Amino acid sequence: MGVALLYLLNFMFIDFHTHSDRQDPELLNLQTLHVTPELSSEELPTFCSLGLHPWFVEEKSWAESWANLELLGRSPQVIAIGECGLDRLIPLSLEVQITIFQKQIELAEVLQKPLVIHCVRAFAELIELKKKTKPSVPWIIHGFNKKSEVLQQLLRHDFYFSFGAAILSDRSPLHQAIATIPDGKFLLETDDRHDLSVKQIYERVASLRQVSLTTLQAQLLETYYQLTRLS
Ligand SMILES: [Zn+2]
Repeated sequence: MGVALLYLLNFMFIDFHTHSDRQDPELLNLQTLHVTPELSSEELPTFCSLGLHPWFVEEKSWAESWANLELLGRSPQVIAIGECGLDRLIPLSLEVQITIFQKQIELAEVLQKPLVIHCVRAFAELIELKKKTKPSVPWIIHGFNKKSEVLQQLLRHDFYFSFGAAILSDRSPLHQAIATIPDGKFLLETDDRHDLSVKQIYERVASLRQVSLTTLQAQLLETYYQLTRLS
């Protein structure tokens, strides 16, 4: 067992994608920040993910934020690049979104950090981009909430997933996906649900997968370790 994994064993829970700044010694809280030109390295949390989120990109001024992301992305606190990606439901054109996303894809490759992806109704484009770029770092789709067929298709293209609050609803199409997705392909998150603790998500997933909470914790620690290549 590597030193890095031993270090990780202190954390009972991992919130892989959150907008909350939670302080808890048992929680590895991977806080995601949208980079602005003003963000400085002193403001970075202990563990974070940095990106240009398509919702907050300003078409005229994103280049400055990008330059800052390129710089800050190298900081050791930055575990992953993102969230970034494609969203068909926002006014910003898909063309501009793809340009900005591609820059972050390249940055993740250069820095050898995993990519955390926001994708809304653009899975075909996302798969195309992955086929085209053949990335060496993991691509993790966060907040995944589609039916099992979509998940299976994405698994064939070697995507990873982070599941959140959607699984708590009784009729979620995700239940089947959660029960069957192979170990090693997913992590869990609270995203913008400040009212939730990731423990609630863990408990639900453990029961859907019919494993104990301890087993799930150990599996997700190992997945996190693999995906972030701390060794
Ligand atoms: Zn988010």
